[in-house]
Amino acid sequence: MPHRFYKVPFVSLKEEVALKFFTSLHHKDCSQSFNGGTHGNELSGVYLVKNWLRNGAIEIKRNSFRTHAVLANPRAVERCVRFIDVDLNRQIKPENLLSSVKKEEEGCPYEIQRARELYSQFQNEAGRKVIDFWLDLHNATANTGSFFIMSSSMDPFPLHVAAQMQIEFPELRIMLLKEGNFEGHHFGGGQHENSKCASEFPTQGVRDLGVEGMGLEMGPLAHGTLNTAIYNLAKKIVCCVLDQVDKFNNGHEFEEKEIEVFRSLGNIYFPTDAEGELSAMVSPNVEGNDWKPLYPGDPLFLSFSGETIPFTGESVVWPVFINEAAYFPNNIAMTITTKEKITVPTLKLKAN
Ligand SMILES: [Zn+2]
Repeated sequence: MPHRFYKVPFVSLKEEVALKFFTSLHHKDCSQSFNGGTHGNELSGVYLVKNWLRNGAIEIKRNSFRTHAVLANPRAVERCVRFIDVDLNRQIKPENLLSSVKKEEEGCPYEIQRARELYSQFQNEAGRKVIDFWLDLHNATANTGSFFIMSSSMDPFPLHVAAQMQIEFPELRIMLLKEGNFEGHHFGGGQHENSKCASEFPTQGVRDLGVEGMGLEMGPLAHGTLNTAIYNLAKKIVCCVLDQVDKFNNGHEFEEKEIEVFRSLGNIYFPTDAEGELSAMVSPNVEGNDWKPLYPGDPLFLSFSGETIPFTGESVVWPVFINEAAYFPNNIAMTITTKEKITVPTLKLKAN
């Protein structure tokens, strides 16, 4: 793949990043936050947060910032479901957060109310975000392993943190999410409802509550279950992310670095018949092969009548979220990505 060099309006970005972390050295109100339970049935984040809230959270305290542990969607957690009315991870957007409509308004979906609560909790009087860096914990049922998921705007700070993490956890991947990748995919209802609302609800994740942020996806884990290995790894990763932020705040320079990222190209949908009924399943050649190359002509689906349907793309792609249970109601069979090398520029705390 050709190398794409990372371009950044470095003066303003570096200063912004530096300033806010510099400030945090003097004013402890600058903060780092992470949450579990954006999706109430993805249990490693849910139980990490519950346990840290219960036991005083010594493990997540650092000297250079305040850490907030947040259970993002308590009602969905209580019921052990992905969401109550709509997907909370698509609701952090101006038309929900800045609306003058009362949050208690009858018929307002619970997650929109919750998005407003979280937003007002984590903004200051001037209406600015008070959380500098947000980490959102998720699980996937797909065979994804562990990976960071972040916006494609490529802020250098989350990329550097992720790259540092790869030194300790070489299996951690980095995925850059295409704007609107899951656009419209937030209703619990059928496909018709989804397509009808697609243009109205662009993707805006819970991590967008922070000035910068990223998600941590860990799979495979069945919804509504816990796994000790995944839980313990998630705990280690969260602690190590906090260490990286602390190191940066204490003057550590993140050197320019070339890293591998998987950039989302969009989703592949399951084939359907004329009535909109599912007509094929993911091919056994693809099942479980998240992050492995898929070439044009490779088997992609197997129809219920036994016919192999090949991948018709023009070039090799790297699929992820293959057969992800959370996306099945939206008819998404997988997300496809390209593998790229990018260069992240040097980043250092701004000197006084
Ligand atoms: Zn999730």
